[in-house]
Parts: sequence; structure tokens; C-alpha cells
Amino acid sequence: MRVLLVEDDEPVAESLRRGLLRYGFEVAWVTTGAGALSHDDPYDVVLLDLGLPDTDGLDVCKALRERGDVPIIVISARSDETDRVVGLELGADDYVSKPFGVREVIARIRAVMRRMQPRTPAAAAAPEAGPDRYGPRLTVDRKAARVRLDGEEVALAPKEYDLLAFLTEEPGALMSREQIMEAVWDANWFGPTKTLDVHVAALRRKLAGAITIEAVRGVGFRLEIVNGDQGDSGGGAS
Ligand code: CA
Repeated sequence: MRVLLVEDDEPVAESLRRGLLRYGFEVAWVTTGAGALSHDDPYDVVLLDLGLPDTDGLDVCKALRERGDVPIIVISARSDETDRVVGLELGADDYVSKPFGVREVIARIRAVMRRMQPRTPAAAAAPEAGPDRYGPRLTVDRKAARVRLDGEEVALAPKEYDLLAFLTEEPGALMSREQIMEAVWDANWFGPTKTLDVHVAALRRKLAGAITIEAVRGVGFRLEIVNGDQGDSGGGAS
């Protein structure tokens, strides 16, 4: 699936781009409204930042909608309800407020694409992504939010699931406490992160033998798949 990412903030765009690539999306990135409107290659969904350097993102949204049915997900730092309403009135299909996690964006894309399917037969024909497989024992079904160990469903608390889903996005990667707290708990977390340790401990216990979660002192955590080659086993929605 091809994503047109319209975002002038480079760190935000880079992390989104990397996240989307991990999930098998192709990403074309432009930094201006003009770039979005002159982008000729076909794409399946637009991620549109509202705060663009050259034009108001809402105008870009309107112009894109006038051209066709491609799903538009507005991303914005403005948490203003008015913007949300105007964006949706101008034809946006969904709305994500900054800051957000990559997982949230991917969930929105999938939801929008599911709703769009009658309008885009090509997307409907695309094979459904099954559960992601991590090594020989663990699968994570991101659509159903279900985790299986050796085929048996593992009962995880909601935040345990979110934490696992986040850490398995990139097995082997060292994630800082701040990154994890942002992605899993709340965007702006200034309190102690003891609750993170508690959830890590729960995952280690419940998924022993399938994954390891190594604590890196002063930094954060690194999840590894047991007996899996870390590069290709993760996100195995092939
Ligand atoms: Ca911006």
C-alpha cells in the first residue's frame, strides 16, 4: 500500500516513514501543500499535516477531496475541535492529533482502508494481513489485539498488549523509557515510569521462552525474539 505523507516536520516525518516501512507500506514524502497537490505517482492513502509551510492543510484536504476518493487522514498539532470538524467536513476520513504513536496511525490507516474498500476495489483485493509471527512460538494479531503463545491465547491486560505490540514493532531495537511511555501510556509523561517495569515483568512472565526483554540501565528496554531471526521474523505479514 502506498502512502503519501505530507509533513514538513522532519523528525515526525522520519519516524512515521520508518514506522510505516516496517509495516510494509511504501511511503512518498512531501513537505509542502504544493508538493502534495503536484504529486503524480499513484497512492492509496494520504497522511496530511495541517500546519504546512506554504498552505493551510485544510485547503490541501479540500483540493485533494475534489479530485477523488483517496482516503485522507489529517494529522495535526492542533487539538482544536473546530479543526477536526472542519477537516472532516472538507472530506478527511479520519483525524490524528499530535503527538501520536506510529501504531495509532497504522490502525487509522487500516480502519480507513477497510471502510474504503467498496470504493477502491484494488485495496479490497489486497490480501488481508494475518497475525504477525515472531519466532516459532509467538503471534500477535494486531487487528484483533490477540496474542498467542504456541497457538494458545495469552491473557494480557490492555496495557500489556499495547506494550508488547509496541516493542514487537522492531525486535532488537533499544527503546528508551520515554519513547515507550509516549507510545503506550500517554504522549506527555513526566511521572515515574515504575508502571512500565511492572508491565515488562508481566510480559516476561507470560511470554517466557518466546521473547526476552532486556533492561538497559539508564536507557530503556530491548525486546528480542527467542529462536527467531530478528530482522525478518518480526512483522511477518508477508
Ligand atoms: Ca507541520
